[in-house]
Amino acid sequence: MNRKEEDEKYMRRCIQLARNGAMGAAPNPMVGAVIVCDGKIIGEGYHRRCGQAHAEVNAIRSVRNPELLTRSTIYVSLEPCSHYGKTPPCADLIIEKQIPRVVVGCIDPFARVSGRGIQKLRDAGVDVTVGVLEDDCLSLNRRFITFHSEKRPYIVLKWAQSADGFIDKVREGGHPVVLSSPETQMLAHKHRAECKAILVGRRTALLDNPSLTVRSWHGDNPLRLVIDRSLTLPPGLHLFDGSTPTVIFTEMDSASQHPGVEHVRLDFTQDILPQIMRYLHERNIQSLLVEGGCRLLQSFIDAKLWDEVHVERVSLRLEDGVPAPTMPPNVCFQVEKRFGSDYLHFYRNVHQAGDKKL
Ligand SMILES: [Zn+2]
Repeated sequence: MNRKEEDEKYMRRCIQLARNGAMGAAPNPMVGAVIVCDGKIIGEGYHRRCGQAHAEVNAIRSVRNPELLTRSTIYVSLEPCSHYGKTPPCADLIIEKQIPRVVVGCIDPFARVSGRGIQKLRDAGVDVTVGVLEDDCLSLNRRFITFHSEKRPYIVLKWAQSADGFIDKVREGGHPVVLSSPETQMLAHKHRAECKAILVGRRTALLDNPSLTVRSWHGDNPLRLVIDRSLTLPPGLHLFDGSTPTVIFTEMDSASQHPGVEHVRLDFTQDILPQIMRYLHERNIQSLLVEGGCRLLQSFIDAKLWDEVHVERVSLRLEDGVPAPTMPPNVCFQVEKRFGSDYLHFYRNVHQAGDKKL
């Protein structure tokens, strides 16, 4: 194996480790680090949770014999930081531990001074290689990158549809048609846990009475968001049970009476989606899952406000009902996964940085 192949091998491991931070690292990027001495991994780490140690620190701490560090290489998926944040700079730690070589996946495009961590290391005489599996390392943090470059959260749209293209029966009450299977429901809850906020429209809140919490997976509940222009939703809905915070977007100028429920006023004479995006950006919410209904999902698609779409296609036929949203014709269909007789289709919008290879 030549040096390039070896670098890519360990960088792939960094990316794998970084993904363990999918639930906790935000609003920080996911980062993984590996320390290699004489062709053997002697330390590994990733950024677990915002405010806690960075990947490089965890990797260095995991090394049993610190003497080996002075002849090791540290691989890290993102440029080591160079400024004092909640933790001391990782570049300084690498220099202090006298690690002679650093391999970096991608530079930090949104660090206060991008590239400074690498410069600091080079100035101290460290051999630095930059750009190993760069596209993969950027893509790993596409939520983080989209948030900072587009000034809005990374948006995932999700729905389930019948074999004949309906998402629900037409109804004025009663229970929704359950299209999900236990397997796809578990996956849906995993996706909820990976998003910081979840949005539904008024009709979905009223007819489906969803909890929008994470139950069939481990992780934090997303912030619940619902659009209710005139505040006509009944107070007994699960969304207002106070179990986890909820925001109602409304045109009414009144404070909420429910604990854990907050009113956010929007101008409904204007397009509300840009206003919601601004609000979420200001709250530092980097990812948004939209779970319905059809009109709301379609308005996101029409406004090109989406990054991923997850469509569950079940074998059941409804014959009639509410038609599923329609995707624009030229989108990039990414992958199909099979769950029993159901299929999950993932689409990705390829407009942003870090998606060149996807
Ligand atoms: Zn750091």
